[in-house]
Amino acid sequence: MHVSRGLDASVDVRRPPTSRYTGPIIDAHCHCGRPRATQRMIRAGDLYGIRKRVVICGIDEIPRLRREYGDRVAFNVWSEHKLVGRDQPFTGTNLRIVERAVRAGAVAIKFWYKPEFNERSGMWFDDPRLDRVFQAISEAGLGVLVHIADPDVWWKHRYNDPSRFESKQLTYRQLTNTLERFPSLRVLMAHMGGWPENLPFLAGLLDRYSNLCLDTSGTKWIARELSRKPAESRDFFVRYSDRLLFGSDLVAFKHATFEHHCSRYWVHRFLYERRDAARSPIEDEDAGGPVFLAGLNLPTAVLDRLYHRNAIRFFGLVPGSL
Ligand SMILES: [Zn+2]
Repeated sequence: MHVSRGLDASVDVRRPPTSRYTGPIIDAHCHCGRPRATQRMIRAGDLYGIRKRVVICGIDEIPRLRREYGDRVAFNVWSEHKLVGRDQPFTGTNLRIVERAVRAGAVAIKFWYKPEFNERSGMWFDDPRLDRVFQAISEAGLGVLVHIADPDVWWKHRYNDPSRFESKQLTYRQLTNTLERFPSLRVLMAHMGGWPENLPFLAGLLDRYSNLCLDTSGTKWIARELSRKPAESRDFFVRYSDRLLFGSDLVAFKHATFEHHCSRYWVHRFLYERRDAARSPIEDEDAGGPVFLAGLNLPTAVLDRLYHRNAIRFFGLVPGSL
């Protein structure tokens, strides 16, 4: 058996955990890479019932991916982050990306406004230079995916210099300002909104902003935090079942093995579908010890929404293509 670094060999992750769910699954958040690496990621998804992936990619990669994978992929296009500091090129380039994304049949635009980017660029998700971009996205009917925050523990060792980084609580105003200004913009927040440690805070956001959804991407982080409080997590998933999209955040990088990809899907499916507990096969450097997954045993109707119905609605996908 092939064993990847950081994986517990006692679980064969090439076998999905047994479960009652047999419906289709859309992975709403993963990253394509070079052709062979992408192929490995797609094969792992096939094994786990993934019928379609919304892949985060560059605008120029769309024709090749469409040729190779057809209906099995939809496209979430990277916005431009490198031209920050050059007002006109930054806004203009992003407007052109939106135009091209619409023509190419993409479904969303990806933004990355987490603390290290804020610090490096001096730019936040509510910057006026993005106004015309959000307006264009909203008019075109595309979605937005944004990564705003990282695990709480990162504020202890990475973002602990207050002269460079704002607090986690404060950083969310870049999101809420934009949601207030663009109420019809459909926004998907990556990694359980960046705050799976604080489900009451996320509930408040979802209650206030009806066009906001969250994805479950970031396997280690999500599994660790949801498993710490299974009853509260289950209630949250049931209560907001029409606002949560399944996503893995798999990245098709060169050294990511087939088993690496499988392990992420294994953990997610165990977490949502099973009722028992198991030691996670993935090593988690942020956990300070082994992680025990607590199965949330979500009702089938909730799984249907989490796994495909919400993604179809959010991204405007054609249901028959699954
Ligand atoms: Zn991602």
